Amino acid sequence: MNSEWIKRSLNAVWHPCTQMKRHETFPLVPIDRAKGVWLYDFEGKRYLDGVSSWWVNLFGHGHPHIKARINAQLESLDHVMLAGFTHAPAVELAEKLSAKTGGALGHAFFGSDGASAVEVALKMSFHYWRNVGKPNKTQFIHLANSYHGETIGALSVTDVEIFKDTYAALVKTSHEVPAPDNRANAQLSSEQIAADAAEHLENWLKEHHETTAALIVEPLVQGAAGMSMYSPYYLKRARALCNQYDVHLICDEIAVGFGRTGSFFASEQAGIWPDLICLSKGITGGVLPLSVVMCTDTLYGAFYDEDIRKGFLHSHSYTGNPLACSAALATLELFEHTDVLAQNRLIASRINALAEPIRKLPYVQHFRQAGTTGAGMIWAFEVNDAPTGFAQQLFAAALKHELLLRPMGNTVYWMPAFNLTDDEATHLVNATFRALQDVMGQACGVRSQPDIKMA
Ligand SMILES: *Cc1c(COP(=O)(O)O)cnc(C)c1O
Repeated sequence: MNSEWIKRSLNAVWHPCTQMKRHETFPLVPIDRAKGVWLYDFEGKRYLDGVSSWWVNLFGHGHPHIKARINAQLESLDHVMLAGFTHAPAVELAEKLSAKTGGALGHAFFGSDGASAVEVALKMSFHYWRNVGKPNKTQFIHLANSYHGETIGALSVTDVEIFKDTYAALVKTSHEVPAPDNRANAQLSSEQIAADAAEHLENWLKEHHETTAALIVEPLVQGAAGMSMYSPYYLKRARALCNQYDVHLICDEIAVGFGRTGSFFASEQAGIWPDLICLSKGITGGVLPLSVVMCTDTLYGAFYDEDIRKGFLHSHSYTGNPLACSAALATLELFEHTDVLAQNRLIASRINALAEPIRKLPYVQHFRQAGTTGAGMIWAFEVNDAPTGFAQQLFAAALKHELLLRPMGNTVYWMPAFNLTDDEATHLVNATFRALQDVMGQACGVRSQPDIKMA
């Protein structure tokens, strides 16, 4: 059964972010069904989803509340266009998200996926400055190692060579400033690293603010950079500098929003609000595609005019799809019904304790957890002296131990669903340990580390 689906898929489906020839050596993994943190193939083999299905799944697969909400919505309204029309799920979601920002970001513009939200935010910022009579503000600033999506506008503010270089001739240039990566200098505190990086930003803005529309950042964790983590102090400084120099701050919380870093929005840990925030991934609990850009009333106000060209004439066919909005409302309700962040703090402390033997492996470096609250649900570490092809090898080794891991280069990370049980947390850590031993054990002569107690 597995092999049939693999064969048909390779014949008909062009898989994302993949050199398809690689599948001659590394088989596709066909998935038949999923429940909670577990994915099952067609022969009943299971894998714990250690990366939340590409960072989207928050409360496990097939969550009953999200399913019920979508089913109920399906009975009354499947879809209607949002231009000229409106519906309850879009209105309620926009209101609730605005309330989550304490009203700081009062208007919601809906998109379909993360990259479309980034396109919207960049265009809005640019268009705002035109509307207020500053048409020279056309440039963007991004951080080194940033990732904001794969569409051409989003690539222009992305700094991941392998995704971008091929398309360089298509992509507009944006100015890059150093990222405040905590790993940059072992002698310096993360605040100092952040302060130094902010100084580069300040120097650039001093000279170029008149032509700069916005700075775009991934708050606290640069995901595709290999889960590079940084101090909230950088966001504080960036906010102050953007205010001082009349430049928008765009927070791309597509990966880090919805509790991932231990606060509902990552920006909260810096005590700031951006001018524009991009949300997607976890917003629907990982069930349906949806993105939202929230902006300040000031920004919104600059588009409100008799002149149609001052309006934001941007759209996607499925903008504000009611089913996706219902899934997002269900996700917010799960945050209302239980103290998700407090619960995550408990799970996280258990994972941290279980992970001690991994942290102590001689080839493991920079073991880290997202955010400063202790409730962050992203962990990452680097593997030194990893063999070539390490990421693929560890991926394959982890599958043998019933775990889905997707290392980036020599960075291994966990981004599990929020509600995994103690046994599942133990499985996540143990299977990672075993897979590491399979790939690295012989290379480093580390074999007989005491095994972690299997629940
Ligand atoms: C995933 C991601 C995107 C792109 O979202 P898609 O839904 O894949 O288009 C943009 N920014 C960040 C920070 C992301 O992690």
